Amino acid sequence: MNLIDGKAISAKCKAETAEEIKSITASGLRAPCLAVILVGDDPASAVYVRNKKRACEAVGITSLEYLLSADETEEKLLELIDFLNKDESVDGILVQMPVPKHIDPDKVIEAIHPDKDVDAFHAYNVGKLFTGAPRFQPCTPAGVMRLLKESNVEVSGKNCVVVGRSNIVGKPMGALLLAENGTVTICHSRTKDLASFTRNADILIAAVGKPQMITGDMVKEGSVLIDVGINRVGDKLVGDLDFDTCAEKASYITPVPGGVGPMTIAILMQNTLTSYKMRFNLD
Ligand code: NDP
Repeated sequence: MNLIDGKAISAKCKAETAEEIKSITASGLRAPCLAVILVGDDPASAVYVRNKKRACEAVGITSLEYLLSADETEEKLLELIDFLNKDESVDGILVQMPVPKHIDPDKVIEAIHPDKDVDAFHAYNVGKLFTGAPRFQPCTPAGVMRLLKESNVEVSGKNCVVVGRSNIVGKPMGALLLAENGTVTICHSRTKDLASFTRNADILIAAVGKPQMITGDMVKEGSVLIDVGINRVGDKLVGDLDFDTCAEKASYITPVPGGVGPMTIAILMQNTLTSYKMRFNLD
């Protein structure tokens, strides 16, 4: 069994982005800029925002932080997004999800200009992804693809099973695997006899959010197992895979934490650079 080291691969990915930014800005061009908006004081969201800010600093992206109170109106948030859409010095805009209940997340996603939608959530960018011409990479799924690539896992012709069909992970994950010529099955809460699908998977991606729900008896000998799930159990973080029993059968497996988690921000940094390059017509 080989453990896939997401921390190391994320560091490599960020170093590449930093290197490219350094060489572009050496000519005197301004640095790329990411604006992050946080509405409310959810502690987990605050940690994600802090980590994004740190990653920006590390790779040479200017980060702007907008902290709005939990009772801020949807109108005010949309006004801020509109302001940032028009600001030529901003390349990427990200609203940390989830937003408070009185704000419609779909309205927020659609308000961000598709050219600045570095999360790749806007319907335009989703459409580009599914028609095979993505501009921004869906962060977590693209992070998974990079983990597979760095581990020399061939996707073409493999049975790829994704458990979970969210817009953030499951669906775009399926699109990326399909683009690499995997044979893709997407399972969800209404799937009957989940194990009959997971046992057939050469590559299994678990993106459910249920602690250790996939056990060793549900996976194929020699398979590649990627755990997107992040679940807090007591004071520990665990994935959707029951790590010990799954690891006995896997050829490759990601740990939680330290697997897929660190990749999401690394791809966000790449997307911000992509947006910046689009703005300045660089390559
Ligand atoms: P969602 O809650 O949006 O989606 C969960 C999916 O799992 C749904 O499609 C749901 O099916 C499916 N599901 C629920 N129960 C079952 C079941 N018993 N059998 C099969 N499928 C089931 O979650 P997300 O996609 O946003 O996130 C999934 C996990 O990944 C979470 O733990 C989250 O914390 C983590 N995550 C990690 C990231 C990272 O950076 N590593 C980034 C984003 C998420 P249905 O559609 O039918 O309801």
